[in-house]
Amino acid sequence: MNKATRKTVIAGNWKMNKTPSEAKALITEMKPLVADADCDVVLCVPFIDIAAAIEAAEGSNIKIGAENVHFKASGAYTGEISADMLKEAGVEYVVIGHSERRQYFGETDQTVNLRTLAALNAGLKAIVCVGETLEQRELGYTETLLKYQTKMALTNVTKEQLANVIIAYEPVWAIGTGVTATDDQADEGNGYVRAAVAEAYGADVAETVTVQYGGSMNAKNAEGLLSKVNVDGGLIGGASLKAEDFSIIVKAASK
Ligand code: PEP
Repeated sequence: MNKATRKTVIAGNWKMNKTPSEAKALITEMKPLVADADCDVVLCVPFIDIAAAIEAAEGSNIKIGAENVHFKASGAYTGEISADMLKEAGVEYVVIGHSERRQYFGETDQTVNLRTLAALNAGLKAIVCVGETLEQRELGYTETLLKYQTKMALTNVTKEQLANVIIAYEPVWAIGTGVTATDDQADEGNGYVRAAVAEAYGADVAETVTVQYGGSMNAKNAEGLLSKVNVDGGLIGGASLKAEDFSIIVKAASK
């Protein structure tokens, strides 16, 4: 198996943007623009937008995801959302371990792992984010860190469950900054992630896993990034809030 036979997935991450009515309007605008996609198209939206997004996306090729999930099944965790709740609401994907969650909300490699297991056990597809800070890159820790984060996130995930895992390499210095990794840096980072999967599960399995790049991917740079052998799609923040730009990225991934 190689890039041509791995699933290419373009996923938007709306972060804390769009009210339910705005979500509906944006998806309605996007639907015809991505209808011919030759890749999977996902929009990960705020919890409050999920119902409106699913309704708006009905009958289209757009799948809806959430941006986080709690690791406990239920209980006294005010403000949290469980995997079963997401599943019943019709969510198919969930972003886990985004660097903004790690940076602002105390997410650790251990909780990323617990959330990943909870999502998979509930039948959701997990988009697990890993990535180094600029300081870590400059100190030469990128490979070590990406492999560590990847293996930690996948602890106790079975080979079978791995089919429902997408890993997004998102260099922290490139997220929301307008600074994009070069095509080669993205390919290299994604390659480290794939190598970590190979060390844990074997090379054959690693060849089947979708590894996205994320970090200021946009309508202009998507084609170059997506042309790289280890880049099986993208996790898109800012550009997923603009129908036209997002659709250009989807088209670049469909070539
Ligand atoms: C993201 O939120 O995962 C992301 C990559 O954001 P942006 O595309 O805005 O850098």
